[in-house]
Amino acid sequence: MTASRIAFIGLGNMGGPMAANLQRAGYRVIGFDVAAERMTEAAKAGIEAADSAAAAAREADVVVTMLPAAPYVATAWDEIVPAARPGTLLMDSSTCDVATTRALHEKAAAAGLRSLDAPVSGGTGGAQAGTLTFMVGGSAEAFAAAEPLLAKMGRKAVHCGDGGAGQAAKICNNMILGVSIIAVSEAFVLGEKLGLSAKALFDVASTSTGQCWALNTYCPVPGLVPTSPANNDYRPGAPATMLLKDLRLAMQAAQEAGASPALGEHATGIFERFVDDGHGGEDFSAIIRALRA
Ligand code: NAD
Repeated sequence: MTASRIAFIGLGNMGGPMAANLQRAGYRVIGFDVAAERMTEAAKAGIEAADSAAAAAREADVVVTMLPAAPYVATAWDEIVPAARPGTLLMDSSTCDVATTRALHEKAAAAGLRSLDAPVSGGTGGAQAGTLTFMVGGSAEAFAAAEPLLAKMGRKAVHCGDGGAGQAAKICNNMILGVSIIAVSEAFVLGEKLGLSAKALFDVASTSTGQCWALNTYCPVPGLVPTSPANNDYRPGAPATMLLKDLRLAMQAAQEAGASPALGEHATGIFERFVDDGHGGEDFSAIIRALRA
């Protein structure tokens, strides 16, 4: 299939720049967002306006949804599925729970539509730069059809398996992130108490067995890594509420699958307290301030 017309539903912090990258790559992009200011920004990037998700879907070969959470996606697909022409490819890039995602795949298949779950990693910087990683669930044929588009929005796309496998990969990855940002923060807090400079610890751990993305790219101590939100007084980046959402999805999936990841559960509890204490809008790496206190 050569997809030339893309409907893009949800033009927020991630969807806006992703849609703009498709437009720049030569696709005709028809966008819809419930927020008027998002529609205005998208128009400046050359995206055509539709007045509903259904109206955008009717025109499209591929419909991408990039919405806050699973209930928003389910509501949007209730409109999109009956409007889309047979054979249209629906691709959800929001972060959602695995069970809802599998149900959405079934709904699309029953209507003669193809579907993928294709959540992303890489944050708003990756969305703007077109360097996202896509984790994709769905048929090999649907994945092959989407690959040219994915290449315009991201640097890497991994076909993880059948419907829901992309979301499974996403929440497992983000459970690693939730645990590792706490582990890295605890190491810096302990180092401070032992009289060790943050720079010395960073220089050792970032090239030793402690190295990981939370340390090497996202160090929670300011002044050590240029890409770290800590340098910017922990302005997001990615807000703590978003990491907590992903950790809760991982815990929900674990419960449904009969798994009990002890560190994942503990990290979820630590981030729940952090958000309850009013820090949900801060970057998640600000967890180091709570651990220090
Ligand atoms: P956002 O809140 O900035 O954007 C979501 C957009 O959806 C908003 O503009 C909102 O107005 C719009 N919207 C809500 N309901 C709608 C509807 N029914 N129809 C059309 N538009 C609707 O959120 P975001 O940061 O762009 O995140 C989107 C998704 O990507 C989330 O599922 C999030 O978990 C995931 N994600 C975000 C990041 C990140 O760093 N921001 C990273 C990876 C994954």
